[in-house]
Amino acid sequence: MQKVDSIVIKMYNTGSIGDCFLLLFQKQGVTSFTMLIDCGGYKTKKESIVQCVEDIKNHIIDDAIDLVVVTHEHEDHVSGFNQAKELFDTITFKQVWMSWAENETDPIARKLFEEKGKKVKALQNMITKSLEQIKQNAGNHVRQNGLKRSLKMRKQNFENALAALAFEDTMALGSLGVRLKINDAMKYVKGKSKVKLKSKMYKKPGQVIDDVKGAEGIKFFILGPPYDSDLKGIKNDEDESEMYAIAARLGMNISSFYFNALLNTLTGDETIRSPFSNKHKLDAKEEKEFNDSFYNNNKNKWRQIEYDWLDAAGEFAIALTSYVNNTSLAMAITIGDKVLLFPADAQSGNWMSWHDEKVTAALKKNGGRDANDLLGDTVFYKVGHHGSHNGTASVSGLEKMQQEKIVVFMPLVQDKVPTQWGGAENFPAKPLYKELIQKTKGALIRTDVGLINDTKAKNLRKQNYTAAEIKQLEKAAENKLYKEWVVKI
Ligand SMILES: [Zn+2]
Repeated sequence: MQKVDSIVIKMYNTGSIGDCFLLLFQKQGVTSFTMLIDCGGYKTKKESIVQCVEDIKNHIIDDAIDLVVVTHEHEDHVSGFNQAKELFDTITFKQVWMSWAENETDPIARKLFEEKGKKVKALQNMITKSLEQIKQNAGNHVRQNGLKRSLKMRKQNFENALAALAFEDTMALGSLGVRLKINDAMKYVKGKSKVKLKSKMYKKPGQVIDDVKGAEGIKFFILGPPYDSDLKGIKNDEDESEMYAIAARLGMNISSFYFNALLNTLTGDETIRSPFSNKHKLDAKEEKEFNDSFYNNNKNKWRQIEYDWLDAAGEFAIALTSYVNNTSLAMAITIGDKVLLFPADAQSGNWMSWHDEKVTAALKKNGGRDANDLLGDTVFYKVGHHGSHNGTASVSGLEKMQQEKIVVFMPLVQDKVPTQWGGAENFPAKPLYKELIQKTKGALIRTDVGLINDTKAKNLRKQNYTAAEIKQLEKAAENKLYKEWVVKI
């Protein structure tokens, strides 16, 4: 059987921050296999994404996509399946891959759903209540300007937090009166798959798929998300040793204490561990005494922390979003010796887990290469999480990429970065950006600006690439609707 000799990669501009990649596997210039990885944009317009899907439809064979991969359930990766549903209705999905975390019958995935669901609900309730309180209080403090300002700030914080939580599925995405949620998009894609077998649809780290019809000679190495019953890897969204910038906020691990306190307060569920040890607990009588004589004493009113401790809600809402990013299906695709790396929005713990002993052994056994080798041979890298400070691991990722010439695609529309993600000035994270420019010798292409034009990047390109190669890079970035790069055997 003739083998695939080149892969065409198209990164679409969906009008906002988001991922939408079409891969065309070709044999002597003829497409033999098509693959779509995600299709979404954050709060993007229907027209923008429909344009992309129209172009996709023009490049597939017989109105069918051989393989559709949905990496994780976030709006910026799946909104297209709602917004361009009419078009997708006319396209067949021969096979769908998702991570084990989307398999509702998987015990670890269920644990994950449940934890996340509880937390989103608790946070939403609490923030909504706090907002009401603020509105009531605002009236009572008209003359106290300082307090008014701080209430205003707190209100803003809470509203941002609610927006971040809305990102976790309460948001309606459809247009023309059809209200579709992220979850509807997930169900839609799953339902469209011609292959229904769960063992074929949901992928776990260590699996290597090398028997796909039309993609002869290609291997798909599944790297993440980490499949551990303690969810430790998934909860590790920011690992100091792996980041290009220091965290400005608390990670998921620390936030567990907060959630426990919150769930404890809201549900009265005694089985939820208090963040404080038992010896600090007051019984009912002690509590009354303390409140009457001290906490509610007029002299101490200014010390009360009724809502102050809830101010961190915004940070925890973001931590929850990180948690879902970390469920990203991360994979490496090999063509001959060359590797294309697609980590979706994987964050520290996901990247680190690719190197776990068990995963390493499985990758070697099933495909003959481990994450170390794959990173070492990477010639195309889809930047993780739109260029955030924790979306590309350092030690477990970028530092292991050793090829002379690496082309990097960054799915980023900078002026569309949501405020609750930390705003446009943090995307791309500056230290990571610098590192990527160095590593690629300027071969970095972004959705919004194309081939980047920083002086450093330009100089590096001139020093390391031939005029013909620079032309090729410029050509890859010239189209407004998509950026296109070809990896040849
Ligand atoms: Zn994303």
